[in-house]
Amino acid sequence: MSLRDPNCVFCRIAAGEIPSKKVYEDDDIFAFHDIHPWAPVHFLMVPKEHVTSMAHVGPRHEPVLGRMMALAGKLAQQEGARPYPEGGFRVVVNTGADGGQEVHHLHIHVIGGPRPWLKG
Ligand code: 5GP
Ligand code: ZN
Repeated sequence: MSLRDPNCVFCRIAAGEIPSKKVYEDDDIFAFHDIHPWAPVHFLMVPKEHVTSMAHVGPRHEPVLGRMMALAGKLAQQEGARPYPEGGFRVVVNTGADGGQEVHHLHIHVIGGPRPWLKG
């Protein structure tokens, strides 16, 4: 499925048009390092399809969101998060203005690694 917004920075990153440090890619999902990390591990996971926010998610998105959640922990460890329970990681989805969303393409922040962190 190719439902891209040509003006969306995360659509362009997922398509390889804007460079990023890739963590993972398959047909439906792209993961890459956050450009301003707040912790030793901080990457973003996005559906390749343009979905504006978590508020725009419907039944059609359940498979890809489920796969993203199931992958998050594996990728976090691959990127340097220590195992549960001493280690672990945080998953954040900022949504809308009150939720602090700055980029309007649904993304899951996966944050981890030994503290201190810059935020959180
Ligand atoms: P939000 O506040 O929307 O949840 O977070 C957007 C995140 O995307 C921020 O943490 C920001 O650092 C990251 N970001 C914004 N633009 C880019 C970019 O062009 N490349 C990468 N790798 N990260 C970006
Ligand atoms: Zn997009």
